[in-house]
Amino acid sequence: MAGQPACPACGGRLISSVVNFGDPLPQQAFTRADHHARSCDLLLVLGSSLVVEPAASLVGRAIGCRAPVVLVNRGETPYDAAATLRLWGGIGEVIPPAVERVKRELGEQPQRF
Ligand SMILES: [Zn+2]
Repeated sequence: MAGQPACPACGGRLISSVVNFGDPLPQQAFTRADHHARSCDLLLVLGSSLVVEPAASLVGRAIGCRAPVVLVNRGETPYDAAATLRLWGGIGEVIPPAVERVKRELGEQPQRF
């Protein structure tokens, strides 16, 4: 494909493992994600407008299996009303303070996982 970088050693085509918009998802990875969405204790969705399928449907699958869903995004998503906790903001604003809070909470307890 035009514009794709070449390997500096052999000149071969470099292929990224990042899934870009419009690329198909690797089937095995999606099957695993689907399994985890159906069996997770909590689904944390960070910085997604949840409009690109099939990844967006994982949220519906988790909700269907009664998993709580925490949704962090600046803009609206189709799952806003269904989320257990909806936080309107950027990941950088929400997650670091949440991680610090969890660390504090865990630090105060004698038992750790
Ligand atoms: Zn090479």
